[in-house]
Amino acid sequence: KTHYEILIIGGGTGGIMTASGLLRKDPDLAVGIIEPSETHWYQPAWTLVGAGTYNYERTKRSMADVIPKKADWIKDSVVSFDPEDNSVTTKLNGIYTYDYLVVAPGLKLDTSLVEGLPETIDQGVVCSNYTNPNHTWDVIKNFKGGTALFTQPPKPYKCGGAPQKIMYLADDHFRRSGVKKKTGIVFASASDIIFSVPEIAKTLMKVVHRKGINVKFNHELKKIDSVKQIAWFKVTPDFEEINHNGAIDTYKDNSFVGIKYDMIHLVPPNTPPDFIKKSPLADEAGWVDVDQYSLQHKKYPNIFSLGDVSNLPTSKTGAAIRKQAPVVVSNLIRLVELQKLSNKRYDGYSSCPFVTGYGKMVLAEFDYSKKFTPDPKLKRMLIKDSSKEHWRLWILKKYILPFLYWNMMLKGKEV
Ligand code: FAD
Repeated sequence: KTHYEILIIGGGTGGIMTASGLLRKDPDLAVGIIEPSETHWYQPAWTLVGAGTYNYERTKRSMADVIPKKADWIKDSVVSFDPEDNSVTTKLNGIYTYDYLVVAPGLKLDTSLVEGLPETIDQGVVCSNYTNPNHTWDVIKNFKGGTALFTQPPKPYKCGGAPQKIMYLADDHFRRSGVKKKTGIVFASASDIIFSVPEIAKTLMKVVHRKGINVKFNHELKKIDSVKQIAWFKVTPDFEEINHNGAIDTYKDNSFVGIKYDMIHLVPPNTPPDFIKKSPLADEAGWVDVDQYSLQHKKYPNIFSLGDVSNLPTSKTGAAIRKQAPVVVSNLIRLVELQKLSNKRYDGYSSCPFVTGYGKMVLAEFDYSKKFTPDPKLKRMLIKDSSKEHWRLWILKKYILPFLYWNMMLKGKEV
């Protein structure tokens, strides 16, 4: 079969939630999912894997198990688009045509944008929860003191909180393992604030001070020298910093600052996948160009996009997709049946579960306006103020959300 009423690119969080949601509403739809990988990952738990408190194996399921029974799995990858002809070309099988297309292949981690990173990522004391959280835990576990450096890349990148969460957990581990007294933690961020939602930023600044973390704003990682163990950052001349522990070695070279590290956790630059960047679907920055409320492509009305690959101006998370997928589903169902869009709108909802230590969490929930919008359902868990650290939020992150993900969200049920 090479023609589908609805063709979906990507069997990740966005692709599977959309396919299941569609088939739940209309089991007779002909839905095809193009996805090359045998494995589906629950990436949000990688933060916990990197801190040694979650089993990596439990973050994966076989793709065959998560693809809805009524959908066809096309085990292939898309290489190009011809939206005028309603077709895509794949690597192995050739051309597939569609009535409607959903684009959800996620984003690319581009290590080549940081000099020295392709050779050093996941080697020795260089680690990243984005690429190998098991290695992160090895590095944190074996750390004997010195400078522990954590970096945050420029936006957009997936999961706004992930670069910081692992730092707060590492600090907690260093305290327990006894190396904290001979350790200086540095957070070097490309941003100029700790977080964009004021209520959450207030709590995080308290956490940073309580833990004695050195913060350097406007620091964008550009080069790793793994021989001298120095990370080089492009900085702005007037960058702000918060210094707690002065024993950090830094170097200066024009507009670059070097920081000596004994371990480094970093986030490779996040970019659009190459086949999207060069396609007619992309905006100037290379992301799929969709309307921010309907998720419909701005130029091709029978194409929709959601998740990390879209240019929606909000934080790229699975939590955001939880609210995006029902909008795509409802629009597609209305288009198929009545040739018009539904009136369901996406308001930019996203959330970042900021784990601030073992057993502690703050939940940042917000919309396009960056207004703090806590879910009223949290009250049922006896959580009065989710902008403050709470152990019940940790239970939500470690146990409840993974359960809801596998058993409800991926089955197309709205939670
Ligand atoms: P993905 O889930 O990445 O799936 C993309 C799929 O497309 C993949 O299966 C891939 O194989 C496939 N694909 C790629 N190229 C092609 C092609 N050419 N043709 C066909 N298929 C293709 N989110 C939260 O909500 N909360 C968190 O706490 C959280 N923490 C995170 C921590 C870390 C360390 C990381 C890495 C992510 C975290 N996220 C979190 C983010 C969340 O996991 C992502 O936003 C989400 O998985 C994105 O879903 P997606 O469908 O857009 O892409």
